[in-house]
Amino acid sequence: MSTNIDRYNRKISYLRVSITDRCNLRCIYCTPSETFKLLRQFDILSYEEVIRVIEAAVTFGIKKIRLTGGEPLVRRNVIHLIRAISQRSGVEDFSITTNGVFLKPLAQAIFKAGVRRINVSLDTLNPLKYVKITRRNCFRKVWEGISLAERIGFRPIRLNVVVMRGLNDDEILQFADLSIRKPYQIRFIEYMPLGVDNNWTPQKYVSSDEIKSRLESMAPLYPVTPEKNDGPALRYRFASAKGEIGLIRPLSHHFCATCNRLRLTAEGKLRPCLFSDKEVDLKTPLRRGCSQQDLIDLFRKAIGLKPKKYDLKRFQVQESQLIMRRIGG
Ligand code: SAM
Repeated sequence: MSTNIDRYNRKISYLRVSITDRCNLRCIYCTPSETFKLLRQFDILSYEEVIRVIEAAVTFGIKKIRLTGGEPLVRRNVIHLIRAISQRSGVEDFSITTNGVFLKPLAQAIFKAGVRRINVSLDTLNPLKYVKITRRNCFRKVWEGISLAERIGFRPIRLNVVVMRGLNDDEILQFADLSIRKPYQIRFIEYMPLGVDNNWTPQKYVSSDEIKSRLESMAPLYPVTPEKNDGPALRYRFASAKGEIGLIRPLSHHFCATCNRLRLTAEGKLRPCLFSDKEVDLKTPLRRGCSQQDLIDLFRKAIGLKPKKYDLKRFQVQESQLIMRRIGG
């Protein structure tokens, strides 16, 4: 049996790598307030350590890597790391998730470093509402960054939209229209009860079924045939659209049976499931001089901890301190 297959017969081939808990936005569903505790620089894995982990991951069987955060593009010399990962043989699919604030100055260098796939979190197309959601006035920068990424040739460009009733659900059709005019995959994500004081209430949650029926009120949606590295999004398209729609349904239809991912937190812990508090520490062994084989064994240990499926109720009680910034959204 291959070493990257877990006890529920899931092949674990995807690693999300958070390289910082810092972020230049303060989104209301992710960050509690202006003042919160950040990791000390020393506690965050260095680029050399991240690369060692990625090398072990690839030997273990990881083929897809996504850089995330916090906001990955705020970390100093991030292009150096992007280039190093991009050049690593065995990484078949490498992408970045960003809030887009630094996309304009960095897009060209990211593309040159070999990255073609990019996800940008953008919950509104309204600059004033953007300030309300992110507590920062950066809509224009983000929009210009996305437009530049499109001109440079990034494909696919995915825009991730967390849908919150009463806040941005009135923009579902505007985003849908964007998917017709632009070659973007608009991915509607169900709002999850994650984080400290993240304002989640059942009333603000909009299910993907509701999102889909609202989209269908505009025009018929046609399913798009899934591809190998798609992940959990269900893909659709409007007739003659340049782009697509994606629906990500972590609450209404959990995708545990096909979950192929592990997360590496900024402080060097492997997290087998977003909704479980179990983690495997890689930083301490790394700093004590462990071998690559030791790291591979720790990957094996981590997939041994992957639950069959998550129990959100139990999780909420146990881990009210979970923060996406640290774990990586
Ligand atoms: N800074 C990068 C970005 O903006 O894409 C990296 C990810 S960052 C932690 C924030 C992303 O995590 C959000 O855009 C969203 O996609 C996801 N996220 C965070 N909290 C969430 C929540 N409560 N429900 C759904 N998605 C959430």
